[in-house]
Amino acid sequence: MELSYEVITPQTNAKYKIQALSYGDELDLKSVVVASESGITKQFNKVLYKTLLEKPDAIKSEDDFLNNTTIMDRLALVAGLYHISYGNEYISKTQCPQCGKLNQNKILLDKHSKMVPYDKGKTPFDFLNLKEIFSVQGIDGTPLNLVFKAPTLRKETLLSDTIEGMEIDPSIINILLYLDKITSDKGELLLDKNIMEIITIIKNQPAMVIRNMKQKLVDVFDKYYFKTEIKIKCKHCGNMYTEELDFIEQFFRNVIQA
Ligand SMILES: [Zn+2]
Repeated sequence: MELSYEVITPQTNAKYKIQALSYGDELDLKSVVVASESGITKQFNKVLYKTLLEKPDAIKSEDDFLNNTTIMDRLALVAGLYHISYGNEYISKTQCPQCGKLNQNKILLDKHSKMVPYDKGKTPFDFLNLKEIFSVQGIDGTPLNLVFKAPTLRKETLLSDTIEGMEIDPSIINILLYLDKITSDKGELLLDKNIMEIITIIKNQPAMVIRNMKQKLVDVFDKYYFKTEIKIKCKHCGNMYTEELDFIEQFFRNVIQA
């Protein structure tokens, strides 16, 4: 049995060694299943951090980890944690989108995982400095700069704490995840302090501007990724479809059954 699993993150290019989940870690995960979405993510990050056996020098605390790991990086780390905790074999159970019948396939996770790493940085964590700026008009015609960055785990929790209980369209939430701040001659608008004003600014933009912005964010930040995708041929009707694995969801499924 392997004792640790090495992962190099796709975006920040940081090297970690991960150890398997302990029984106590599993119980910690199990205890938050009924909590809010943001509670689950926080607990998951905490448990993930505990399983990191070796970390880059820059990561000295859980705070450092949250500030310097992107959501995309976490996908690779979680896949590694899954591998070392539960093995490389995975039983995929999916419903065919065409005929609605169940398909079950046994696959090897590493054969279905793909990584496109950020290769333009000179040192690890350079990706976090990558910025994309859009110039738009504010409500009163003031020129505004929307500054976007790759979302970190810290940003994800900050955002979910800020918008807890608010009804916001998922597409706006996705933009907010990448939005670092809005700057203008009058100063800065920050997510945790000016959330309502920021949402109004986004909603008031021409639809085309937002559409282009969303595409640009994908092109700039999501071009470097890790994903595990299974191509399935339905054994009932022959339809081809894909399942993209969400390892965090898989973890909770395993933990609840344990
Ligand atoms: Zn089918």
